[in-house]
Amino acid sequence: MKPPSHFDIDSTDLLRQALERLQSEYAGLPSVDRPTRDTKAIAEVLLEVASRMGREFPYFHPLYAGQMLKPPHPVARLAYALSMWINPNNHALDGGRASSVMEAEAVAQLARLAGYSSHLGHLTSGGTMANLEALWIAGQLTNKSVILASDQAHYTQGRISAVLGLPFEPVASDRNGRLDMVELEKRLAKGDVGTVVATLGTTATGSVDPLPDILKLRSDYRFRLHVDAAYGGYFTLADNLESAARSAFDLMGAADSIVIDPHKHGLQPYGCGCVLFRDPAVGTLYKHDSPYTYFTSRELHLGEISLECSRPGAAAVALWATQRLLPLEKGGTFGAGLTAGRSAAIALHRRMEADKRFVTPFAPELDILTWTVRAKSCSEASTKSRRVFEAAARTGLHLALAELPAAMFEHAGMLKDRATVTSLRSVLMKPEHLAWEERIWRKIDEAMNA
Ligand SMILES: *Cc1c(COP(=O)(O)O)cnc(C)c1O
Repeated sequence: MKPPSHFDIDSTDLLRQALERLQSEYAGLPSVDRPTRDTKAIAEVLLEVASRMGREFPYFHPLYAGQMLKPPHPVARLAYALSMWINPNNHALDGGRASSVMEAEAVAQLARLAGYSSHLGHLTSGGTMANLEALWIAGQLTNKSVILASDQAHYTQGRISAVLGLPFEPVASDRNGRLDMVELEKRLAKGDVGTVVATLGTTATGSVDPLPDILKLRSDYRFRLHVDAAYGGYFTLADNLESAARSAFDLMGAADSIVIDPHKHGLQPYGCGCVLFRDPAVGTLYKHDSPYTYFTSRELHLGEISLECSRPGAAAVALWATQRLLPLEKGGTFGAGLTAGRSAAIALHRRMEADKRFVTPFAPELDILTWTVRAKSCSEASTKSRRVFEAAARTGLHLALAELPAAMFEHAGMLKDRATVTSLRSVLMKPEHLAWEERIWRKIDEAMNA
């Protein structure tokens, strides 16, 4: 029997073809004598690497249904690898002449996806740096007033505010893990709030803050609005959102700044976040001069509108290639992938709702499903969840754990002897999860019986 093929190894033929094309672009250059490389020694090391890497959890497989992890699309992987033979640096046009243009094009497509008709933006090493840049600009434009985000916002929001020396206050979330509008308005009424962060797709539960209501408050209280859609942004292309989430994504373009992570749901390798500003004039706040990097062009160098200096041109090349193959359009293949993962989450949630052994806090808004094991108390549910997590791993199903506020489970009537409930969490972010949903359920059942 043939062993299962997980890695579409034949795609390396395409890399070879593309490399030959790339090399031919430089045919005019005289050839260079290079020291001979010890191919045998390289091979030994490389095979050792392969054995070591085999200790990773199988993020590429549908039975990995834990954290936000999956490999990039093949076209992203190949384009990234191809560009490694050049290794452009998108700090300046001097270092990434072609890849900077590809970055600008790819980022403009993301801005359109987010609902911006004009924008300034660039790629970053990830969502944390992208959020940092957005809050850095917000701090400058709001005279360092208070930044608010829900207690379910990404933990880095508070930390990067501290790095920036900006006052940060968490606001309570509601039972659905969304920013609580009553609490938000109470805090706004006290004054001195400069910026509100709305998270469209929280990391723990995929909850979507009620953007339409936040925008209504903005017209009364006048604050800067930053949307952290690092995880959720691409879901605007899914066609099976509930109306609350749909209306939030439809209004993303009203935010002053937006973060979307192509390395979360954009099929990219790690090292690819994106920050977008609605008003291109914020570029002047980045203003600096670099005495040794900007020579070849009077045009904008991306390093002039980015806090990071060197940045991988390869990340831009991979993103450009992916969006070329799978345009970010409604009804396209890209959106179908998100729709499928979300369908898997809905289907599993239904099974749990129909089964007394489980308690779910609420129906998933995106593709992240959370649940706990029904018990007399929150502490007992937590212990049991941990056991199921371990038992599932023994069946080959990899789940994740999350500490969720006990208030999210109030409807189950468990004794509240703990502020949080250790819950199980499945990020069903691979389209294949849909076809595997029943098998995943069977393994959960097996783990419950163990
Ligand atoms: C992942 C995530 C971040 C942080 O992004 P990194 O790319 O991990 O630095 C920020 N906000 C949200 C909502 C996230 O899901």
